[in-house]
Amino acid sequence: DTIGANLARTAARHPDREALVEAETGRRWTYAEFDAAVDAVARGLLARGVARGDRVGIWSPNNAEWVLTQYATARIGAVLTNVNPAYRSHELDYVVRQSGMRLMVAATAHRSSDYRAMLAEIRFTETVFIGTPDWDALVEAGSTVDPGALDARAAELSCDDPVNIQYTSGTTGFPKGATLSHHNILNNGYFVARGLGYTEHDRVCLPVPLYHCFGMVMGNLAATSHGACMVLPSAAFDPAAALRAVQDERCTSLYGVPTMFIAELDHPDFARYDLSTLRTGIMAGSPCPVEVMKRVVGEMNMAEVAICYGMTETSPVSTMTRRDDDLRRRTETVGRVMPHLEVKVVRPGTTVAAPRGEAGELCTRGYSVMLGYWDEPDKTVEAIDSARWMHTGDLAVMDDEGYVDIVGRIKDMVIRGGENIYPREVEEYLYTHPDIADVQVIGVPDRKYGEELMAWVIMRPGAEPLTERALAEFCEGRLAHYKVPRRVHVVDAFPMTVTGKVRKVEMRQAAIDLLG
Ligand code: ATP
Ligand code: MG
Repeated sequence: DTIGANLARTAARHPDREALVEAETGRRWTYAEFDAAVDAVARGLLARGVARGDRVGIWSPNNAEWVLTQYATARIGAVLTNVNPAYRSHELDYVVRQSGMRLMVAATAHRSSDYRAMLAEIRFTETVFIGTPDWDALVEAGSTVDPGALDARAAELSCDDPVNIQYTSGTTGFPKGATLSHHNILNNGYFVARGLGYTEHDRVCLPVPLYHCFGMVMGNLAATSHGACMVLPSAAFDPAAALRAVQDERCTSLYGVPTMFIAELDHPDFARYDLSTLRTGIMAGSPCPVEVMKRVVGEMNMAEVAICYGMTETSPVSTMTRRDDDLRRRTETVGRVMPHLEVKVVRPGTTVAAPRGEAGELCTRGYSVMLGYWDEPDKTVEAIDSARWMHTGDLAVMDDEGYVDIVGRIKDMVIRGGENIYPREVEEYLYTHPDIADVQVIGVPDRKYGEELMAWVIMRPGAEPLTERALAEFCEGRLAHYKVPRRVHVVDAFPMTVTGKVRKVEMRQAAIDLLG
C-alpha cells in the first residue's frame, strides 16, 4: 500500500470515528472529514504544480496542518521534508538547499525578514504560512482541480517511492537526511500499532514533535493504519498540556522520550489529573531509565507501556518490548526484534558477530532500512554495508532469547585509565538517588586517566544541591571505584535537541570550558 491508499481504506472502514484532535484549540476531524481535508490540500498542491518526487518542506511545531500536509504530500507522491521547528536561517538554508525543496509549508511565527532574504537568494517557489490566508488560498486553488487528477496521480505511485526526508536528531553532530519510502514507514507504523494492540478505540496522545519519526510514524502512521485517533496536546512540549489532553480527550496511549515522562511525573499538579483511561504508550528515543519506567507503569496507569528502540534511518523502530514480556524485560531491555526485521550484534567497525552476551555494535536489516541519505551516497555506503545491514553506532548486548539491551552510543563510551565505561550504567544507578530528578554522565578530559566521569544532575524540587562528596558516599560499595563520577555539576536543564534528546557533545564542550 501507499500511505494515501492506506488512509483511504481506514476512512472507508471507520468514517465516523475521530481521526485527529487539536486539544488546545478543540479543532477535530472524523476519519471521513480528515480524508476529505487531506484530499483538499493534495489538490491544492497539484494546483501549485507539485510533481511526483518534488520535495515539499514542513517547518512548524505540532498542529493539524502539519498532519494534513504529511498525508497530502504522500497522496500525490511528493517527498515531505521535515524541517526542525527550532531551525533559524543558517540551518534552514542548509536543509532547503540540500533537499532541493520546491515549496514550504511553515508556521506563521517563522515569517521573518531573514527568511524572506534567504528566499530571495535561492530558487524556491513559495512558502505557505499556516493560519494565514496563504493556507486558505492553497485549499481554494485545489477546488479548481478535477478530483480525477488525484486518482490519476495515485495510479502512478509505487510504495517504493521516496515519501519522506527525515533529518536525524543531530545528537552527535550535524543532522543527516534519511530518505524513506512509503514501504519503509507505513509498515513500521503498522507493526508498532500491532505491538501496542491498537484498534479504532484507541486515542493516542502525542506530545512528541511530529517532525521526527517518533511523532509522524510511531504516532500518526500507527494510528491511521488502525483507525485510532491522533491527539495533539500542544504545539511545543508542555507537561501540563499533555496531562490535560490525556484526561480531557480520554487518551488510551501516551508517548514520550524519558525526559518528557519525568517532567509530567514531577509536575506539581500531577496528582490532579485523571489518567485512568491510559493503558499503553511508548517510551523511546534515548536510554529509558528503569526507575522512570517503573513510575510510568505504577503512577500513570500505563500497565502495557512499551519501550521502542530505533533510529531515523530505520523508519525508525527495530526492537520493541511486548505486552506479554515479563516486567523486568519490559523495563530493563528494549525488547526483541520487530516482525520481518533482523538484528545482530557485531564487533564494532566489523561485520563479525560478537559472542552472545558481549557488547558490540547493533545492526539492523530488512524492510525498514532507508533508501539512503539524501544526496550523500558516501555517507550511505558508510552506514549500510554491502549485505544491506544498517550499522547503528549503538552498543548493545543480546541475550539467548533475543532481548536487546542498549548499553550506549559508541561515541559516548568513556575510556578511563584503560577501562571502558558505559555512562548509561552509572546513570541507571544514580537515578535511584531520592533527590535526583534527572542525571547524565559524560567523559571529560583528565591528565592522569585520559578521561574522567562527570555527572550533570537536576535535583528534585526542594532538594539540596548534590556535592561531589555526597555522590561518592552514595556510590561507595555500589559501583566499582572507577565508575564513580569524580565531578558533579548541578544544573536546571540539559542542552537538548528538539526531539528531546540530551546533547552530550554540547555538555562535553561546556564541561571543558568550565574546567578551564
Ligand atoms: P544523530 O544521528 O543526528 O546524531 P540521533 O542518532 O539522536 O542523532 P535519531 O535517529 O533521532 O537521531 O535517534 C536514534 C538514536 O537514538 C539511536 O541510534 C539510539 O542511540 C537512540 N535511541 C533511540 N531509542 C532508544 C532506546 N530505547 N534506548 C536507547 N537509545 C535509544
Ligand atoms: Mg543517529
